[in-house]
Amino acid sequence: MKVFVAGGAGYIGSVCTEYLLDKGYDVTVFDGLITGHRQAVDPRAKFIYGNLEDRDFLFKCLCEGRYDAVMHFAAFSLVGESMKDPGKYFKNNLGNAINLADAAVKGGVKRFVFSSTAATFGIPEEMPIRETTAQKPINPYGESKLCFEKALRWYSDIHGLKYAALRYFNAAGASENYGEDHNPESHLIPILLQVAAGKRAKAMLFGDDYDTPDGTCIRDYIHVLDLAQAHEKALYAPESGHYNLGTGAGLSVKQILEAARKVTGHPIPADVVPRRPGDPPRLIACSDKARRELGWKPQYEDAETIIASVWKWMQKHPDGYEF
Ligand code: UDP
Repeated sequence: MKVFVAGGAGYIGSVCTEYLLDKGYDVTVFDGLITGHRQAVDPRAKFIYGNLEDRDFLFKCLCEGRYDAVMHFAAFSLVGESMKDPGKYFKNNLGNAINLADAAVKGGVKRFVFSSTAATFGIPEEMPIRETTAQKPINPYGESKLCFEKALRWYSDIHGLKYAALRYFNAAGASENYGEDHNPESHLIPILLQVAAGKRAKAMLFGDDYDTPDGTCIRDYIHVLDLAQAHEKALYAPESGHYNLGTGAGLSVKQILEAARKVTGHPIPADVVPRRPGDPPRLIACSDKARRELGWKPQYEDAETIIASVWKWMQKHPDGYEF
């Protein structure tokens, strides 16, 4: 099967690319290297340098390549930034994604796997969050992803483009070769490990006055290799659909801090600072649908295993991909 991976030089895209190649797929990565890294692209993949804004080039690529499936990872994903610059998020995460969906249709692609997010739910009305839980995003990042989920439904109905919208909860972890290298880094686990590695003096905990047992936000951390497994399974989903991907275990910011201290043996000093705007207090997935319909089985369910994989990757890549 030939797979076109938009955003394959980014964190989750690079791990999925490696996973698909290991399984024998023919993979082409398309990436503008805005936040991604050329070194993060598995050398076995073909690489096309391009921007999703360039509709004509995208159409040319998709029409010439005769791909069976498109996976779309190329998006901006920072909640805080989206609260300051919503236009940036709608332009790329919705507008440019439409370019990709149009090009997929034009190129005769039959399958589309989309990186969606738990942020489409906002402050959910039930916990754990099911596929049927009402989606009311509280930040432009989540709204931009929800808009594209909704658009895909019409591409499926009208053009027969079968899609899976995979709503990641908190992607974390690394494979042996590929991991997370954002600049600036904003995610909790890599920041804590940067402190342990001596690259930051201390960490900041954004708010300890939430209505949760220890006052810090609760998230469902899911290993990036488990997300990769879901992407591969989604290529065979019988119908278009949405899937929540998490372990079902909620861990607080303080629990993650403790796990990071245990894995690294470093005290990781941390100060509590005010809440970060746009952060819901609690996000935990119910992933029964993905397990049942896709046959998805997460392999890395505990926080220490996930954090240890990141720590190992950081030892091998102390300066990220800039070696
Ligand atoms: N967080 C924190 N300090 C940081 C980064 C994140 O306390 O330096 C908190 C953040 O408020 C959220 C959780 O950690 O409650 C996970 O945040 P992250 O940015 O990793 O992922 P998100 O949930 O925003 O996708």
